[in-house]
Amino acid sequence: MSKLAAEIAKRRTFGIISHPDAGKTTLTEKLLLFGGAIQTAGAVKSNKIKKGATSDFMEIERQRGISVATSVMTFDYQGVKINILDTPGHKDFAEDTYRTLTAVDSVILVIDCVKGVEEQTERLMEVCRMRKTPVIIFINKMDREGQNPFDLLDELEQKLSISVRPLTWPINMGSNFKGVYHLLDRSLNLFSANKTRIEKNVVSVDIHTPELDARVGEKDAAQLREDVDLIEGVYEPFDRAQYLSGEIAPVFFGSAVNNFGIQELLDTFTKIAPPTQARGTDVRVVEPSEKKFTGFVFKIHANLDPKHRDRIAFLRICSGVFQRNTFYQHIRLKKNVRFANPYNFMAQEKEVIEEGFPGDVIGLYDTGNFKIGDTLTEGEVLNYQGIPNFSPEIFKELINLDPMKSKQLEKGIDQLTDEGVAQLFLQPQLGNRKIVGTVGDLQYEVIQYRLEHEYGAKCRFDGMQVSKACWITSEDPKKLQEFVRLKGQNIAQDKDGNYVFLAESDWILRMNQTNNPEIEFHFTSEFK
Ligand code: GDP
Repeated sequence: MSKLAAEIAKRRTFGIISHPDAGKTTLTEKLLLFGGAIQTAGAVKSNKIKKGATSDFMEIERQRGISVATSVMTFDYQGVKINILDTPGHKDFAEDTYRTLTAVDSVILVIDCVKGVEEQTERLMEVCRMRKTPVIIFINKMDREGQNPFDLLDELEQKLSISVRPLTWPINMGSNFKGVYHLLDRSLNLFSANKTRIEKNVVSVDIHTPELDARVGEKDAAQLREDVDLIEGVYEPFDRAQYLSGEIAPVFFGSAVNNFGIQELLDTFTKIAPPTQARGTDVRVVEPSEKKFTGFVFKIHANLDPKHRDRIAFLRICSGVFQRNTFYQHIRLKKNVRFANPYNFMAQEKEVIEEGFPGDVIGLYDTGNFKIGDTLTEGEVLNYQGIPNFSPEIFKELINLDPMKSKQLEKGIDQLTDEGVAQLFLQPQLGNRKIVGTVGDLQYEVIQYRLEHEYGAKCRFDGMQVSKACWITSEDPKKLQEFVRLKGQNIAQDKDGNYVFLAESDWILRMNQTNNPEIEFHFTSEFK
């Protein structure tokens, strides 16, 4: 096997997703602990934002500006290189999470056994389904009185439209939780609440022998036998191919905070999760094993330290070998760029790298050249797909409060929207009115704060009567121009100059769609 093929086969790049509070941060940390990447708990910073507090967000971002290590965590485990990509749980930053999901090869979904499937879980799973991303489900907090596990599985199948297959099975829950039975290994992992140490209490058991009764008591032994019979009767044997094609999600039960159920999850993940996958571009599908380097930027992180205005662009390598100090083509800007200090992220620190392989995420210092979705290649003109802007849900007009600082404001809002914090729409026909669209109110506070503190520009946001933005195209350029002229106030342009129709309500949008069959309305920016 060539070096490139060996490196590709070694990598597992995935994201952990959950509704806030289900235990994503805890699980991430425990995976690092079991993987030997950290020695003590408390090393992984939560990226949680409590009830829309801007100060929370700023504090988290400030800490990350200093140590961005929490955005990507890399560690080696049993000969496999594991890259965990962090995703914000807060719904106002959902778009950031969607984009991160374009850079992973698989996903672990965390469910709280008390709450079951929650709103954010459903939305995130929709994105996974769309991309056919393989998903493993971890049902967490089994030390609490949760829902009946069979009911939970039904709920997962119904609400997430995916088939599930349990690979471990719990013996009771809450204060009676005794552990899990591994359905493939036929072993018993007995539970003891322990938040600090890793305890290994795994025994091989034939559940049809009295040994099981001796281990868990007669009543629970009888229940487990009944449950296992039922599972084996109802579910087909686990088939990895179905998992890899996104049809079936294997399910594990555990308690992350108690270090329980993590080993089974990590070991199975290492065995079954897909290595680096091929990816689609606007021209063709690119295989990771191709010799020439390609990659795309899926996240840009601002350094909130006003003394260092540089940003970090996170690039996912898709094919070939990335090398330090080598010129690559920046496709959108049509220019050659090279990087003296690309780095990767070990569990708690970052280090400059000489080369990177498909599946890796590297950090590139950026002084304003990158936008989310940008592709780098060795010269071939192609653009990675699947990083669209979605129609925002809230729209506000940006009002400059200090005419002396117009330049700063323009530059600030331009850069912040490149980072994907929000989308900017312009109305040149209306005195260059600027409209900022987001998926959550929190972003306006964040933008206002950052414009003031990083760019010295003061602004205000005024609410607008807009509920949807649709990108519009037409096969007949004349018809498009006519529509644009007629709709005046309702027309804006995105940063790339594409026309966008701003609708006051869903009803108005539908009416315009019906009355203008020659115009196509698109709900994401990726319509080419
Ligand atoms: P995130 O918002 O999904 O990142 O959730 P966190 O990892 O921050 O966890 C939310 C809360 O649930 C924290 O207070 C954790 O200590 C707690 N938690 C995590 N795992 C467990 C568990 O297995 N059992 C119980 N009882 N609590 C847990």
